[in-house]
Amino acid sequence: MPELAITGKTNIVGVLGWPVEHSLSPPMHNAAYAQMGLDYAYVPFPVAPEQLERALAGLAVAGVRGLNLTIPHKRQVIELLDEISDEARQIEAVNTLKLEDGRLLGFNTDRYGFTEAVTETGFSFDGCAVVMLGAGGVACAMGFGAADAGASSLTILNRTVEKARDLAGRIAVYFPDLALSVHGPDAPQARQAVTEADIVLNATSIGMRAGDDAPVPVDWLAPRTYVYDTVYNRPTRLLAAARERGCRALDGATMLVHQGAKAIEIWTGTRPDTQVMLDVLRQHLRP
Ligand code: NAP
Repeated sequence: MPELAITGKTNIVGVLGWPVEHSLSPPMHNAAYAQMGLDYAYVPFPVAPEQLERALAGLAVAGVRGLNLTIPHKRQVIELLDEISDEARQIEAVNTLKLEDGRLLGFNTDRYGFTEAVTETGFSFDGCAVVMLGAGGVACAMGFGAADAGASSLTILNRTVEKARDLAGRIAVYFPDLALSVHGPDAPQARQAVTEADIVLNATSIGMRAGDDAPVPVDWLAPRTYVYDTVYNRPTRLLAAARERGCRALDGATMLVHQGAKAIEIWTGTRPDTQVMLDVLRQHLRP
């Protein structure tokens, strides 16, 4: 690991969250800056929700260049911004801020991170049948991402069907030609949708804890189906079973890397080496 040399000229960027101490973004970002030879340092800032406005004002005054936002700030921050990108407006979540001339500019790089992670492996969403498990924050970015990348249908399966319906309604506003349907994961239509899917996305938190089962019965998966699991902190049962059935299957680490890489590009104008970021992330996941 190269020596970290912070000087009076070092550009400070970081992540605001509550809590934030488990974030893997600092080592991932700092490895990228070191490899690029950029004088940037990425720091975690623990900021409680009720302190967000004061924290942003203070960090802007202190000359911080850019910030990532994680739970619970991604939506709440929107009302504090001077400008917001079209993507972030659609998703109604901001995970990246650029602080420029006293102005706060908001972006969402999660959607890009997801589609880039999948398409860089050679998968094309064009004309695809997509099944997404989950309807929370990450699902929103992924649903919009799949729609924008050319999916022809999107079936959202979620425990709370009302949340899936709400998300589908928001996506339909921007993608009226996309065939959207929503069901509970136990509905009779769920099995057929999974079996016929070109790609199945796990956007639930099922799989994060040791002993978690797969979010849907794995014998529903056809071997030709691509399985993408956003969980990245441990090997999930869904991915293991999918691979056993002959499916192509990928974990969420690359999504984390690509959303971070896009943020670096927004702040520095330079594309980082995503393999360096992925290697560091994997080292921290398997110490
Ligand atoms: P969230 O907004 O809280 O949404 C959680 C989703 O999981 C909801 O759809 C929820 O269903 C479902 N869920 C949770 N527990 C469940 C259970 N026991 N049974 C059935 N469904 C359950 O969380 P999020 O921010 O979207 O994050 C979801 C996951 O994405 C995280 O846990 C993490 O593993 C992953 N993630 C990945 C990245 C990445 O870059 N790869 C980044 C952030 C997060 P209900 O609507 O019914 O509650």
